[in-house]
Amino acid sequence: MLKDCRCGRCNRLLARVGEFTELQIKCSRCRTLNHVRAESPEQSPIKRRSSQPN
Ligand SMILES: [Zn+2]
Repeated sequence: MLKDCRCGRCNRLLARVGEFTELQIKCSRCRTLNHVRAESPEQSPIKRRSSQPN
């Protein structure tokens, strides 16, 4: 599934990406450097459990 990656300033469509965790992309229109982080909803519940303190 592709996600639209838009500029946070001018809302220009910068890219369409599939699987990613983190992305830095510069807008060619307003030259804002957009830093996008993909939220991963319950991708690895086991890892999440082990990351707890104790
Ligand atoms: Zn822009």
